[in-house]
Amino acid sequence: MSTNYGYLYNIAGWGDPYFTVDSSGNVSVKIHGVETKPEQEIDLLAAVKKATEKNLQFPLILRFPDVLKHRLDSLNTAFANAIKYTGYTSHYQGVFPVKVNQNKHVVDDLVGFGKVYNFGLEAGSKPELLLAMNSLINGSPKAYLVCNGYKDMDYVSLALVARSINFNTIIVLELEEEVDTVVRASRELGVRPILGIRARLLTTNPGHFGSTSGKHGKFGLLEAQIYAVAEKLKQLGMLDCLKLLHFHIGSQIPTTSIISSAVREATGYYCHLVKMGAPMGTLDIGGGLGIDYDGTRSGSSDMSVAYGLEEYASAVVQAAKLVCNQNGVAHPVLCSESGRALVSHHSILIYDALVAVEEPSDSVTSDELISRLDELVGNPTTLHANIKSAVQSEDGNNNASLAHADQLNKHGIEIFKLSRRLAKQLEAAGDSTYAYHANLSVFSLTPDFWGIKQLFPILPIHRLNEEPKQKGTLIDLTCDSDGKIDKFIGGAQTLPLHALEQNGGGYYIGTFLAGAYQEALGSKHNLFGGPNLVRVESAGGFGGFRVVVVGAGPTAADQLKVMHHDPDEMMQAIAKRAEAAGHWTPTEQKIVKSVFYTMPYLFGEA
Ligand SMILES: *Cc1c(COP(=O)(O)O)cnc(C)c1O
Repeated sequence: MSTNYGYLYNIAGWGDPYFTVDSSGNVSVKIHGVETKPEQEIDLLAAVKKATEKNLQFPLILRFPDVLKHRLDSLNTAFANAIKYTGYTSHYQGVFPVKVNQNKHVVDDLVGFGKVYNFGLEAGSKPELLLAMNSLINGSPKAYLVCNGYKDMDYVSLALVARSINFNTIIVLELEEEVDTVVRASRELGVRPILGIRARLLTTNPGHFGSTSGKHGKFGLLEAQIYAVAEKLKQLGMLDCLKLLHFHIGSQIPTTSIISSAVREATGYYCHLVKMGAPMGTLDIGGGLGIDYDGTRSGSSDMSVAYGLEEYASAVVQAAKLVCNQNGVAHPVLCSESGRALVSHHSILIYDALVAVEEPSDSVTSDELISRLDELVGNPTTLHANIKSAVQSEDGNNNASLAHADQLNKHGIEIFKLSRRLAKQLEAAGDSTYAYHANLSVFSLTPDFWGIKQLFPILPIHRLNEEPKQKGTLIDLTCDSDGKIDKFIGGAQTLPLHALEQNGGGYYIGTFLAGAYQEALGSKHNLFGGPNLVRVESAGGFGGFRVVVVGAGPTAADQLKVMHHDPDEMMQAIAKRAEAAGHWTPTEQKIVKSVFYTMPYLFGEA
């Protein structure tokens, strides 16, 4: 049995139950979580190699639709079980907030896999509403289509059209003024809306992602405003349209106690609305179901949450039941808008390390430490004299003796600390740090690392039965300071990596749990193009799978157009210049043309 070095990256912590290291040292994807049979596991390296055989280049995003389905099934099962064991008398019916991953295949997959659960979508803008309508054509007719976000006349009108063509559309009011817009649009179109209200809770989410929660948060209505809106609807004869209460206190909620208090608070408002005569029926608890990025289950930073799907569901169901029972109100349908928790696991960003450049190690500090140590110890005679005087005064002046002893003690402690630091530094001085240059763009592929210092688990996807002896940082090909990854889960500034067997590629590194938020933020932000998107679909046979390309990266021409360059004009201008220089042979033309138009725009060599 060879050693498995996956523990260096805590893969058992954050990867469970989807990622493990197999006996050959490769990362293995358990596509059905704990229910995965050995023959269903997919060797990640094999999938990457199959993608490269299709002439796809790095960076690659590998998507595992089976994992996506497993996340959705697990979420629904967690709520179904919590409901059963708590004696809750209604059901769970969730929606996916499309802003978290707007990719067509991801949204369509979730709608398709979710049809049995009447799983729906949440939109936060007009384009998202269009996208959601289109996708839900193939979903369950009962699936919710929750419309959040700032609403103008066009947004509300589109949402009403969606309702009149039998999408189960709910317009969530976030501002008091939106009532007037809804009333106007509803009258003009002759369509009665189904409405929700977004509550601004006093319960706050203390993490980075909760900065908009609480009394001073940006979104939603405070308790008194909620009832004022309900009163206004009553006067308009529209209180019967009010069927949902929504809140969202931010993403990555660290503990279940915060979730419980948020649900208790919101359920209180819900019950009050029922007592005011609104039909209600659904409590929408928003997003916030977190991901344990560092695998510590500590909930002590934005990188970790102290609970899993089961504990989350159980906290929600119990809190809602408690407050409803206290108020004698029927249990509402529970809806969550879980985004991060559904899509993070199913997609992995893979890149290729091209060269590892040794960086000079920092020896100045060691010298400084040694001279400080010399100073403290002083010359041996002084030290000896000090000890002697301390011992001698033992039976003499007691106070002086104590002071001496105390001083010696302090010295001793400091000497001890310094020599430990020195030993550590000397130990570390042997291993330099290596900068691994890789085929990726940190800014466009994991913008949250760049923007909000979000850390993702990163590790080589093979050779994990071989000790990774080098300490590495990752450098992308943008060659700017944003393109460096030198902070990793667990707090280290380097990652254990293997010496490259060859320069120019062949050492594959993966960023895991990156399926949420990164793509929408990152795409089109700069001229570095997008990654190639690949679906790894399970197929029959032992470890069988097929690799389906679902999106080749954009060409250079595509990328240039985003920044309002005209590739055709550019091509003509270059041709003119080339002809004038007498250099426009078919070969030269082919080179320039293919960089513009035919190759996917990628990093590194073709
Ligand atoms: C972003 C957002 C979500 C998704 O939150 P997650 O923490 O990713 O589950 C849900 N609802 C609303 C209103 C949001 O803005």
